[in-house]
Amino acid sequence: MTGGERVARALAEVETALGTEAVVRSPGALWAYSADGNPDLAARPGGVVLPSRRADVAAAVAALHRHGVPVVARGAGTGLSGGAVAEEGGVLLDLARLDRILAVDEGEGWLRAEPGVTNLAVGRRAAGMGMFFAPDPSSQVACTLGGNVAENSGGGHCLKYGVTLQHVLALEAVTAGGGTLSLGGLAADLPGYDLLGLFVGSEGTLGVATEVTVRLLPAPEATRTVLMLFHREEDASETVSEVIAAGILPAAMEMMDNLAVAGVERGPYRVGFPPDVGAVLLVEVDGLEAGLDEQAERIAAIARRRGVREARLARDEGERALWWANRKTAFGAMGNLAPAYLVQDGVIPRSRLVRVLRRVREIARTEGVRVANVFHAGDGNLHPLILYDPAEPGAAARARRAGAAMLRVCVDEGGSITGEHGVGSEKREEMAYQFTPAELALMRSVRDAWDPAGLWNPGKVLPPERPGPTGTAVPSGSADGGV
Ligand SMILES: Cc1cc2nc3c(=O)[nH]c(=O)nc-3n(C[C@H](O)[C@H](O)[C@H](O)COP(=O)(O)OP(=O)(O)OC[C@H]3O[C@@H](n4cnc5c(N)ncnc54)[C@H](O)[C@@H]3O)c2cc1C
Repeated sequence: MTGGERVARALAEVETALGTEAVVRSPGALWAYSADGNPDLAARPGGVVLPSRRADVAAAVAALHRHGVPVVARGAGTGLSGGAVAEEGGVLLDLARLDRILAVDEGEGWLRAEPGVTNLAVGRRAAGMGMFFAPDPSSQVACTLGGNVAENSGGGHCLKYGVTLQHVLALEAVTAGGGTLSLGGLAADLPGYDLLGLFVGSEGTLGVATEVTVRLLPAPEATRTVLMLFHREEDASETVSEVIAAGILPAAMEMMDNLAVAGVERGPYRVGFPPDVGAVLLVEVDGLEAGLDEQAERIAAIARRRGVREARLARDEGERALWWANRKTAFGAMGNLAPAYLVQDGVIPRSRLVRVLRRVREIARTEGVRVANVFHAGDGNLHPLILYDPAEPGAAARARRAGAAMLRVCVDEGGSITGEHGVGSEKREEMAYQFTPAELALMRSVRDAWDPAGLWNPGKVLPPERPGPTGTAVPSGSADGGV
């Protein structure tokens, strides 16, 4: 039986169980599902299943896996590493209809929801109770809680509060063959291996989250947002390191360089930055009202020692919201500067910012591409945005080469090939630069234990194996094969 026939039979069973409105098969409609936020990594799925109830997820997975059909979970498709793309002819499980908030416990500080609820909807529900959900990816208007869990997403405010992993208390997940597991719980500690921790960040390769319980925190009493304009990017970077070294832990420290500023200033959330600004730093401190002005002043004083050109406090909530909207729409604003761009995502120790940014610029020069830097500076989470024109012969390849070289610099400096956008299919080869063959083999065995038939998001995250000299499998790109 061909793969196509297997998919057709499996989808017919899914239709019987879930109804015809739960299955998409028309080739035109399937194109709409062929990519996530990274259009370079497109592949048309064999079909799409849209469950409306959590029980439907288990029924659909049971039918698909019974026929040996790979399953790829999909939230909003805002991922940037090709994770929610069914590249091996599998079926997408679109969770958008599972968007209910199921329960909230204000006293205990948690919220339970279906995976298709947006990050912003969770944040708004929390805000209505005087609380907040800390992970706040810039894509929060669209991205889903399930996607946040699968990517272990970060955001502007994760410097002080931690990434998604630190805020997920429990999960229900449908795993291989349609079985259901409960992971984690409301109690402070649980015995045994941390399966919840393993699932968070597993990019849909261990199963699909169908219910997520997250921690809500009391909203801080007050906030101060400081915007700082620097002549030189180096001074902004040094300010970041020095603020942390001074024992101040801001909620957020976000940075944009001159080219990134040029992009956002042509977008809908213009702040009015001067065109010759070297870098912009957006810093937020929060907590008890008492002492916040002093913290903001200490930060401004550090920036003044670094020759800051201008530092000012947000006058009101409206101004603060504008500054954040300006920053959060920076990726899309690159469309104002070039017909195409590649988003990179790497992490480095904060103290290496100056050195690594210099290397990033050298690489861009060598490859003849322009690079705009937008990043969660406090976390050392860089996002070089590599601008290019796909109509120019060789430009896309040069952009990709530049991106890969930048990631290697991150690893060489003691960092990582991804901070928050995941590995997906985009960076699986780079995994062999980050990890040893033994470490990758251990990861592979963990994955096999959860998914013996290899039907959860196959091909993602781990580099492909190729036959070794003695018939053993070695990951491609491992030390003996080069990267
Ligand atoms: C403009 C822009 C800004 C961004 N900013 C940030 C940022 O600040 N921080 C950040 O971390 N990311 C950011 N991202 C990346 C992306 O938005 C996040 O990774 C987000 O969490 C993905 O959510 P999603 O619902 O779109 O997931 P999708 O893209 O649909 O899926 C992502 C991965 O999760 C898996 N998945 C989805 N739902 C489930 C589920 N229920 N169970 C198991 N696996 C599942 C998919 O199989 C896939 O591997 C940004 C993206 C864009 C386009």
